[in-house]
Amino acid sequence: MAGNPRNGRPYRRLVAAQKALGLPCWLCGHQIGYQLDARHPLSFTLDHLVPLSRGGSLLDPANARSAHRRCNSARGNRTERTAPSKTSWKW
Ligand SMILES: [Zn+2]
Repeated sequence: MAGNPRNGRPYRRLVAAQKALGLPCWLCGHQIGYQLDARHPLSFTLDHLVPLSRGGSLLDPANARSAHRRCNSARGNRTERTAPSKTSWKW
């Protein structure tokens, strides 16, 4: 089923390109566990400078940022999977 642009090739390519930069998390500034399992809280996720809900572009590299999974979801962006409605990561 098409329909979700996150499943599209351009999006995947953007994710791969962003990942390849090896940047630290833009939200907390710490290194991202690029080799970690994708479900790990410290693994890489593609975040967006301007949230899509506010008109940010999904596929614009200029809008792409590297973030930890936990930071990304704590910020309130829904990425994959339904995030818990309350999101403050207790360390
Ligand atoms: Zn982070």
